[in-house]
Amino acid sequence: MEIIIDYFDILFLFKLYFQIIKKGKFMKVQKNTVVTIDYTLKDDNGNIIDTSQGRGPLKYLHGNGNLIPGLEKALEGKEAGESFSVTIPPEDGYGYKDEGLIQEVPRNLFDDSNGLEVGMQFQAQTEQGTYILTIQEIKENTVVVDGNHPLAGQNLNFDINIIDVREATADELAHGHAH
Ligand SMILES: [Zn+2]
Repeated sequence: MEIIIDYFDILFLFKLYFQIIKKGKFMKVQKNTVVTIDYTLKDDNGNIIDTSQGRGPLKYLHGNGNLIPGLEKALEGKEAGESFSVTIPPEDGYGYKDEGLIQEVPRNLFDDSNGLEVGMQFQAQTEQGTYILTIQEIKENTVVVDGNHPLAGQNLNFDINIIDVREATADELAHGHAH
C-alpha cells in the first residue's frame, strides 16, 4: 500500500515538474515573445562598453526592432538557460561611420562654449530625427562634431545569458515593447 502511494506521489511530482519545464524552459525566442537577458558588450580589445551586471537584466519584446538586428538574429530560436557569445559586425549593429555626419560648427552654438571637452556628447534635433553629437576636436572659433553613433564601425562582442522567455501580453504587443 505504501509503495502505491509513493508511486502516485512520484507521478504527481513528475507531472508538476513537466508542466514547469514545459511552460518555462521550452519556450523559444521568437517574434512577439518577451525575453529577459543578462549581457556584456565588449569592443575588439576586450574593453567592456556596456553591461547589465549591477544594473539588472534587460527585458525586451523580440522581433519588433527593439534590439540591433544582429543581436535579435543571434537570440532567435534560443531558450531560457542558454548562454552564448556572438560577434556582430557593423552592418548588423550600428552601421559604418558616415563622414558626412562629421561637421565643423561655430563654437558659439554651445551654451557653455568655454566648458567644452573632446568626447562630450550633446543631443541635436534635426529634420531627420535626434542625433547624439560627440565632440571630436575643439578649435578657436569652431568645434568638430561627429553625429555617428558612438559604436558605428565597430564589431560588437556580446556575452549573453538568457534568463526568461515568455509570451507577450496584449498590452505589450499593442505598445511594441515589454512591460
Ligand atoms: Zn507600454
